[in-house]
Amino acid sequence: MKSYITTPIYYVNGSPHIGHAFTSVMADILKRNRVALGYELMLSTGVDEHGQKNQEAAAELDMSVTDYLEMRGKEFRDVFDRLGVAYDYFVRTSREGHKTAVAGMEQAIFDKGLIVKKQYTGTYCKGCEEFKKESDLTDDGQCPLHPTMKVEQTDETNYFLKMEPYRERLLQHIADNPEFVQPEAFRNELKQMLSEPLEDLCISRPKARVTLGVDLPFDPDFVTYVWFDALANYLTNIGWPEDGYEDWWAECEHLIGKDILKPHGVYWPIMLMAAGLPLPKKLSVHSHWVGAGGVKMSKSIGNVVDPIEVIDKLGVDALRWYLARHMRADSDSQISVDLITQTYNSELGNKVGNLLSRAAKFSKARFDGTLPAPGPLNAQDEAIRKSVVEATRGMSAWMNLADIPARAQAIITVSDEMNNYFAEQAPWDLIKNEDTRERCQTVIYVTLDCLRIVMEALLQIIPGSAGKALKMLNAPEPPLPWTPELDKLQGDSELGEIETLFPRVQ
Ligand SMILES: [Zn+2]
Repeated sequence: MKSYITTPIYYVNGSPHIGHAFTSVMADILKRNRVALGYELMLSTGVDEHGQKNQEAAAELDMSVTDYLEMRGKEFRDVFDRLGVAYDYFVRTSREGHKTAVAGMEQAIFDKGLIVKKQYTGTYCKGCEEFKKESDLTDDGQCPLHPTMKVEQTDETNYFLKMEPYRERLLQHIADNPEFVQPEAFRNELKQMLSEPLEDLCISRPKARVTLGVDLPFDPDFVTYVWFDALANYLTNIGWPEDGYEDWWAECEHLIGKDILKPHGVYWPIMLMAAGLPLPKKLSVHSHWVGAGGVKMSKSIGNVVDPIEVIDKLGVDALRWYLARHMRADSDSQISVDLITQTYNSELGNKVGNLLSRAAKFSKARFDGTLPAPGPLNAQDEAIRKSVVEATRGMSAWMNLADIPARAQAIITVSDEMNNYFAEQAPWDLIKNEDTRERCQTVIYVTLDCLRIVMEALLQIIPGSAGKALKMLNAPEPPLPWTPELDKLQGDSELGEIETLFPRVQ
C-alpha cells in the first residue's frame, strides 16, 4: 500500500512563515499516521525557484540569482528540519531533470494543438503572477489578494493553453469523485469556478520581462509561466516521465491552502488532461491562520508568528501541537505566541507531561527505580484503560487533514480522565499501608501503561517528545501496524531517567 503526500512548493521571495510551517507539519502528521498503519510513504515539500517575484527578490538583495536561491533553499530546508518534517523529497525546481520534464510536457501539449500564441492586453498582478480580468479586481481596480501592490497594464504576446475544452470533463470528474476535493465547502467553491466558460491560461512570459524560468521548448524568446512549471513538480518528483511513477501517482494527495485552490483545482487537472495523464487522487484544502482576535497578521501590527521564534522559545512540539489541535477545516483559525504558550502549558504541560512526571517519579522513588507489577484490576482500572484505548483508536485509523484536530482533542480529553483517576486512587495514600501496597502498584502500573499508549498515539503529532517519554517508560517498540494495546510495559522493570517533558514557560 502506497501513499504520496505533497505540500505546495513555496515561493522563496521571503523567509518561511507560519503558513509554510503549517502545511508541511500537517503533511508530516498524515505521513506518520499512514506509516503507523503500514503504508509505504512518499512526502514531498520544497521550494519554487522560478518566476518574476523570486527574480526581483534576488535583485533587491543585490545577489546573484543562483546565490539567492541557494540561500533561501537552505533556509526553508532548515526550518522544515527543525519542525521535524520527515520529507522524503525536497523539491527544487531549478533541478535539470525537472526542467527537462516540464519542457517535455509543454511540447506534448503544443503538438496536440492545444497551445496558441496570441496578443494579450489587460491587467497583470505581480503578486499573483497572473493576468486579471476586470471582474477579478476590487472596486478601486486592485488585486484583492495584493491590495498594496499596484496591478500593471500589459500588452504582450504570449502562449495560451485552451482550458474550456476540458471544463465539462473536469466537472464530471468532481461529480464522480466526491473525495477529489475535501472538505465539501471547497469542492463547492471549485464547482463555482467551473460554472462559467474558462478563459485560455497564459503559460508563458516573455524573456524581456522574466528570465528565471523553464525555457519554452517551442519558442526561445519565452520562459514557462511559473505556475505551470511549479505544478509539474508533483509528477517530476516521482520520476515522471520515466516508468515507475505510476503507483505513487495513483495515490497522490495534494495538501493546499484555500488561496491556491484555482491553480490546483482548475489549471493542474486541465494541464494533466491536456497531457493525457490521470488526475491526482485528492486535493485536501485548508484555511489560513490569522492573529488573535481574528486580525490578519502583519508586520506593522506586530502579530506575525515566526515559526523559528516559537521553536526557540517553546520547543518544536509546542508549535506542532498548536497547529494540529487548533486549525479548523473551513474557516480561518487564530494563532499568537500567547495562545501557543497557553495551550502548551495547559494541555501538554499540565495534562500530559505533569502526570507522566508525577507517576514515574513516584514509581522510581517508592519501588526502587522500577515500575511495579500490577495486582488484580478493579472497575476503575478497567474503565480508564477502556477510555484510553477508545480515545487513541483514532490514531490507528486512516486520518484525513480535517480529522487531525478532533483526534488530538480526544487525547487531551482522555488525559483529563487519567488525571482524575490518578487523583482519586491517591497512590501516595495507598503506599502508606502494607495492606494497600499491592493496590498502589496496580494504580501506578495502570497509569503508566495508559500513558504509554497515549505517547504511542502522540508519536504521530509530536514525535520528539512522545519518543522521549517512551524511553523514560522503557517501552518496547510500538506494534506495526499500530493499534492501542494494553499491558505492553513490563512489570518489575527498570524505568529510564525521568525528565520534565514540557517545562513550564511564562
Ligand atoms: Zn494578486
